Amino acid sequence: MIIGRRHGGGRRELETLEYDVVIVGGGTAGSVVASRLSADPQLSVCVLEGGPSDVGDERVLRLRNWINLLETEFDYDYPTVPQPRGNSHIRHSRARVLGGCSSHNTMISFRPPAEDFDDWVAAGAQGWSSEALAPYWQRLEITITRVADKDRNPLAEDFVTACHTALGVPVLDDFNAGPFTDGTGFLPVGYDPETGYRSSASVAYLHPHLDRPNLTIMTETWAYHLDPERGVTVRTADGDRLIKARHEYVLCAGAVDTPRLLLLSGIGPADDLKRLGLPVRLDLPGVGENLLDHPESLILWEASRPLPPMSVMDADAGLFIRRDPGATRPDLMFHLYQIPFTFNTERLGYDVPEHGFGMTPNVPRPRSVGRLTLADSDPSTKPLLDFRYFTDPDGYDERTIVDGLRLAREVAATEPFASWIGREIAPGPLLRTDEELSAYGRAAHHTVYHPAGTCRMGAADDPGAVVGPDLRLRGFDNVRVADASIFPTMPTVNPMVMVLMIGERAADLIRPR
Ligand SMILES: Cc1cc2nc3c(=O)[nH]c(=O)nc-3n(C[C@H](O)[C@H](O)[C@H](O)COP(=O)(O)OP(=O)(O)OC[C@H]3O[C@@H](n4cnc5c(N)ncnc54)[C@H](O)[C@@H]3O)c2cc1C
Repeated sequence: MIIGRRHGGGRRELETLEYDVVIVGGGTAGSVVASRLSADPQLSVCVLEGGPSDVGDERVLRLRNWINLLETEFDYDYPTVPQPRGNSHIRHSRARVLGGCSSHNTMISFRPPAEDFDDWVAAGAQGWSSEALAPYWQRLEITITRVADKDRNPLAEDFVTACHTALGVPVLDDFNAGPFTDGTGFLPVGYDPETGYRSSASVAYLHPHLDRPNLTIMTETWAYHLDPERGVTVRTADGDRLIKARHEYVLCAGAVDTPRLLLLSGIGPADDLKRLGLPVRLDLPGVGENLLDHPESLILWEASRPLPPMSVMDADAGLFIRRDPGATRPDLMFHLYQIPFTFNTERLGYDVPEHGFGMTPNVPRPRSVGRLTLADSDPSTKPLLDFRYFTDPDGYDERTIVDGLRLAREVAATEPFASWIGREIAPGPLLRTDEELSAYGRAAHHTVYHPAGTCRMGAADDPGAVVGPDLRLRGFDNVRVADASIFPTMPTVNPMVMVLMIGERAADLIRPR
């Protein structure tokens, strides 16, 4: 037993447990790291997971139930601070369950475009080229498949046809089959078409190995302080404990909770820490900076008739286009929502249709950059998320949304999709100018739930980098970060596969050779 820190002040003896590797967060990346490292029976691995287990829990495993998990006990549910140019009412879902957001998300599973990795290398992530990362794509254990014929909704089929006719983009049977390009089609999804279960990181990487004697998974165990010399202090229903790593700590708590844990541990911008009354362990100015996200807006239609029921997760088809013909990557993306997703439009006074659907233009490589910090030094206070949506000086993000709303109307005017539409509810046919579409698009915008970048990976001489290309936390040789917080820039596509690949690479970097 050693003497440890306890939240709420005072000092008392904490029960201490020791393992070779301690992973904070059994989420998307954490599940991969835990699975790969514990394949070595000589290595004892402990996962500290804040949420419950997903094993046998139909609410979590059934992919199509994802929407019913929002704002429940499976969701940390982080608010956004007031946004001067964006939507101040967004509630950022972060999953509180084994498997993390891969246990809550829609499992859209794109292989990231090669140029996204080029951007990372240019940002100082030496060794993270698409060639170097390719083996990790091959190695992924999740099952990525096409949407099964029985799950294909005629609305989505007709959407794909209309996108092709209206915009001239190719219809793709598999977005992951070749170099990433513009196109429309059903999306690649990580699921089992027989059962409708998600193929989450937990299902694919942890469930088959739960009987490994060297793998300990502590659920409902929330880490709130890291001392790389003494251990991670966690809170459980039975009280606090200290969990010590003999070799390494791997932080996989995600783009909100990894920087939050570091700040609570005195690792971050010194001025902020002092203002909060937290002792400064290391002045690391980049912690919490570079907060990125994919913002998306919505064009909402009332259906002309009730929709057939089949679907995988109610956003099964999509569209990528390039407004810049000289670009190699798409610069505008849309999901087709086969349900009326009206969180934001209802607040603005728009009707909520009984039968409705929408297209969601989003900004694949947003230029607005935000910041995460703490409100106070109490570990239980939710952090402050300031995305600074639509504040990029050139107005690129805003322009993308306006272009997207216009292109969506072109698709809506094209058969066979057009005849599914009864009327445009939002933004509504009266809003037509750039100014009107921008004001609506920004007021009604949502998130694609992709926060990232808050512990940015970069070169050794980059003062804003939090981890190096070996994922080591600057200033410490026994702590690494492996989750969406390390993104130097945003991937063009939905980021989960990128996170899984980070988990695979982290395991390779950590494994004793
Ligand atoms: C609703 C929703 C839909 C999405 N849809 C898609 C999609 O279709 N495709 C796609 O590519 N991406 C999607 N995403 C995004 C994607 O799922 C995430 O970017 C990715 O899963 C993040 O992985 P991570 O490992 O960084 O964090 P997470 O998967 O969030 O893992 C973090 C884990 O750490 C745990 N944790 C946090 N803090 C602590 C602590 N202090 N102590 C102990 N444990 C802690 C959490 O409980 C969680 O299990 C979606 C996200 C959401 C929320």
